[in-house]
Amino acid sequence: MIELLVVLGIVLVLAVAVMVGFVSRRPSEVLPPAPTAPQEPLLGEDSEPPRDTELRTVADVEAPLLQEPQLDVPEPTAGRLTRLRSRLSRSQTTLGRGLFALLSRDKLDDETWEEVEDTLLASDMGVAATQELVGRLKQRVRVEGLTSPAELRTILREELVTTIGRDVDRSLRTLPHEDRPAVVMVVGVNGTGKTTTCGKLARVLVADGRSVVLGAADTFRAAAADQLETWGSRVGAETVRGPEGGDPAAIAFDAVARGKAVQADTVLVDTAGRLHTKTGLMDELGKVKRVVEKHGPIDETLLVLDATTGQNGVVQARVFTEAVQVTGVVLTKLDGTAKGGIVVAVQRELGIPVKLIGLGEGPDDLAPFEPEAFADALLGDEAAL
Ligand code: GDP
Repeated sequence: MIELLVVLGIVLVLAVAVMVGFVSRRPSEVLPPAPTAPQEPLLGEDSEPPRDTELRTVADVEAPLLQEPQLDVPEPTAGRLTRLRSRLSRSQTTLGRGLFALLSRDKLDDETWEEVEDTLLASDMGVAATQELVGRLKQRVRVEGLTSPAELRTILREELVTTIGRDVDRSLRTLPHEDRPAVVMVVGVNGTGKTTTCGKLARVLVADGRSVVLGAADTFRAAAADQLETWGSRVGAETVRGPEGGDPAAIAFDAVARGKAVQADTVLVDTAGRLHTKTGLMDELGKVKRVVEKHGPIDETLLVLDATTGQNGVVQARVFTEAVQVTGVVLTKLDGTAKGGIVVAVQRELGIPVKLIGLGEGPDDLAPFEPEAFADALLGDEAAL
C-alpha cells in the first residue's frame, strides 16, 4: 500500500511539473538554434557574395599625377637692358638730365663746358675718358654748328656710345666644346654679388636654351653653397658642392667632371673672394684655375664688381686680374648708384669689357651689356626733351 502511494506521489509531482513548464514558456522565448561553426568556402566558390558594382580594369583607373618640381621660366635675355632701363633712373637723373640742362643753354661757353666735365667726373667716368668725351663734343658742336636740344642729344648719345666702346666683343663664351662643357669661372671680392650673379647667369643661360651645372667652390662663406643651390634648383641646374671649408679646387674639378658626365653645355664655378692676403688669393685662384684646366682651358673668367664702390672697386679688382686672366666684367648694383659712368672707367682702367650688368636683386635683373641701350637709359626718353 505504501509503495502504491509513493508511486502515485511521483506521478503527481511529474504531472504538475510538466503543466507548469507549458504554461510559463511563451513562444517568444523559444531559444535560437545552436550556432553552427562558420563554413570555409569550398574550392571554386566566392569567399563573399560578389559586389553588385562593376569592377574597373587597370585602364579605367586614373594614375595619380606625378608632381614635377615647378621650375621657373626665366625671362628672355634679348632686350633685357631696355626692359630694365628704369633701374638706371638715379644715373639718368644726375648724368643724363644734368648734361642736357647744360647743353641746352643758350650759350655754350667755357664755363658751361667745365660744368659738363664736372658732371661726367661726378659720374665716376674717370678723368681721361671725360676729357676725351668733352673734347669731341666741343669739336662737333663747333664744326657742325649744332645748337638745338635734339641735335645735341644725338651727338651726346653717339659720343657716349663711342666712349663706352662700340666695337668691343662682349659675347660670353658659354657654348660647349665637342667633348666637354664650356667652363665659366666667376671671381670677385665677397659682397660684390658674386654668388647672386652665378645664380642669375645660370638663368640667363637656361633662358637661352642651355643646360647648366653649378660648382660651389666658395667654401669660405658658409651660406654660399646653399644660396647657389637654391638659385640652381629654381631652373633645374644641378649644384656640385663639397664640405664647408673644403678644397675649392677639388670642388671646381668635380663640377666640371659632372658637367662632362651629364653633357651639360656650361659649368659655372663660383669662387671665394674674401682672403686675408693678396698672395693667399692669388694662390687659391691660381690653383682652382690649374686644377679645372686639367679638363681643358677655362672659356670665360668673369670678374664681379660692385658699381656702388666706384673707383675703390676698380683698385681691388686689379688683384684679381693679376691672379687670373679675366675676360669680362660683371658690374652689379648699377640700380643703386647715380654714378653710371663707372662702366667707362672700369673698362679703361682694367682694359676688360663689361659684359653683364646687375640692375636689381630680382632673379632676372642681370642684363647683357649693350652700349646703345645703356646710353639711351642714361640719357632718358627723347620725349622728355
Ligand atoms: P657675394 O658675397 O659676392 O657672393 O655676394 P652675394 O651674391 O651674396 O650678394 C650680396 C648682396 O648683393 C645680396 O644682397 C644681393 O642680393 C645683392 N646684389 C647682387 N647683385 C645686385 C644688383 O645688381 N643690384 C642690387 N641692388 N643688389 C644686388
